[in-house]
Amino acid sequence: MKISVDYHRCEGHGLCAEQAPTVFSLDDEAELTYHFDGADVPEDQVTTARAAITSCPVAALRELS
Ligand code: SF4
Repeated sequence: MKISVDYHRCEGHGLCAEQAPTVFSLDDEAELTYHFDGADVPEDQVTTARAAITSCPVAALRELS
């Protein structure tokens, strides 16, 4: 499973990083890092990654097939 991240839409709320801290993190300036950019999310982290997608209040995260 891959995730598309719309960095322009992201407002740095950090809910995704709370849900899936191994998949997303924010730096001190609320800049988002997606740890699996261009790669598949590891199978054991897909459930938390999906929770992170759902948690985003501005729909910046989207699951790709
Ligand atoms: S929850 Fe959405 S808006 Fe907040 S940091 Fe994550 S991607 Fe950005």
